[in-house]
Amino acid sequence: MTNNYNVSELPKATLHEHIEGTVTPEMAAKLARRHQVKLPDDFVMKEGQYDKTDFPNGRYAYDESDFWAFINTYDSVADMMRTPQDYYDVTKDYLSKNANEGGVYVELILSPMHMATEVNPETGKGELSVPRYKAMMDAITKAADEVKEETGLETRFIATGVRNLGAENVKEVAEFVRDNPHPLVTGFGIAGNERAGKFDDFAEALNIAKGAGLKLALHAGEICGPESIRDAVRLGASRVGHGVSAPQDPAVMKDLAEKGVMVEVCPTSNRILVNDLKGDLANHPARKLYDAGVRISLNPDDAGIFGTHTGKEHRIGAEKFGFTKAEMLDITLCAVENSFADVATRKKVKENIYKTMTAEDRKEMAELAEKAENPFLKRRLETRVEESGKVAKKLELQKRKARTMAGMKNKKFQALVMNRTGMKR
Ligand SMILES: [Zn+2]
Repeated sequence: MTNNYNVSELPKATLHEHIEGTVTPEMAAKLARRHQVKLPDDFVMKEGQYDKTDFPNGRYAYDESDFWAFINTYDSVADMMRTPQDYYDVTKDYLSKNANEGGVYVELILSPMHMATEVNPETGKGELSVPRYKAMMDAITKAADEVKEETGLETRFIATGVRNLGAENVKEVAEFVRDNPHPLVTGFGIAGNERAGKFDDFAEALNIAKGAGLKLALHAGEICGPESIRDAVRLGASRVGHGVSAPQDPAVMKDLAEKGVMVEVCPTSNRILVNDLKGDLANHPARKLYDAGVRISLNPDDAGIFGTHTGKEHRIGAEKFGFTKAEMLDITLCAVENSFADVATRKKVKENIYKTMTAEDRKEMAELAEKAENPFLKRRLETRVEESGKVAKKLELQKRKARTMAGMKNKKFQALVMNRTGMKR
């Protein structure tokens, strides 16, 4: 319990999670057996070497202060994701776990370059393959559909280009995604080493993606400064991944808040990979962003590899950044509003979140709106109070109707009994 509320009971939305990064140590062992890969003995920690309550899905053994050790682990795991069955298993495992910890909405980042490249026997070079992409998409869609059927969790996918492979390569990926549309692929992203080139180098790729109706979520401000965030927004990003450097430039903060561009906050990932934080979440700007009216979401980035999960990132939100229950509900509602799902799905998921709110929650939300100083934040919270009030009223009407119906049924039954007993007489 934090601030007198239980984080595990709250609905949660995840917008920044790389599919290959979700692989837990347990799943990595399964993939290694399947592909007869011999992982080093010290690849994962053994039981007793780590706190099982903090790392319920196991823990990789890489040293958190060693960037290259992390990259090696990531690459070894990603390398074992080869077949549609691998992608199905990994996606199913991740989404089921996410739903179990209150997940109502997930977007998974996929890289066609990793997932759908096949060696052309004629040229001997790796090329994007349409049949391979289709087979992979079928596999992960099957997993998403099954989890939706079982738990109600909604999933969408973001196809991403890898920045350090160059602008031409990212453009090729954008064209490939445009030419092979999929109903659940609703966004386009750029990930990879932020220092590789400027966003303007990728303008053509981004225009292709936008032209195909895809919304943009771009990694920015993780390693580079606030200018990278400004560029991402200028080129049409609806969301920026990480955005840790945003507070260094008040104009960027204002721009984000004004335009409603979301910062996908990834606390654990940032603690491990962003040097400026010095390994301490007390230096993370999540609270600053929120109070400045910037819309944020809380994400694992690479849940499996970082030994985290959506619930843990939310617990960090409560414990390290002091987000209250009303703020946490607002954060999840923001995530759904800034998600890349269609209007009807966003509306449905939002309404379901509002339905979980009690009268006490609405009161807390109203108090939060009352004392909010930032105008963007204040307006948004006031809207939340209004919208949740409407949903509560609708629920009350439905309940009343159900009671009346039950009452009517009861009367009919009584009349029937009276008739029967009357007949007997
Ligand atoms: Zn990422």
